[in-house]
Amino acid sequence: MNTRQKQLILKILTQSERPLSKREIISIGRKYIPKIGPATVDRIIRNMREKSELVGLSFPGQPTRYELTSDKEHPHFICRVCEKVYDLDIPMIIPKVNLPQGFKVLGGEVVYSGTCPKC
Ligand SMILES: [Zn+2]
Repeated sequence: MNTRQKQLILKILTQSERPLSKREIISIGRKYIPKIGPATVDRIIRNMREKSELVGLSFPGQPTRYELTSDKEHPHFICRVCEKVYDLDIPMIIPKVNLPQGFKVLGGEVVYSGTCPKC
């Protein structure tokens, strides 16, 4: 594990106001470490996911976006024009459901879609 590259990815995700795809992480990362490549970023992402430092967000037809694990669950917003995903700093209310026996809810995901302020 290359510590310097991992530190960089941590920094990029900390400073980003929204979850980033691997491609976005690489393009920002190259400003700091020009030789950072997809294989390295993949390895670091996998490692961080295993340690629960990172979560991946998947939306149909979209590349997975990553963000640092947050202790505050929040809804996401996907812009239908630029396809960027934003974190919404508002409380998330997950509807209560009656699950079949044996299932236990530990979290959830709320995604809104529409247009962002830039579009
Ligand atoms: Zn937009």
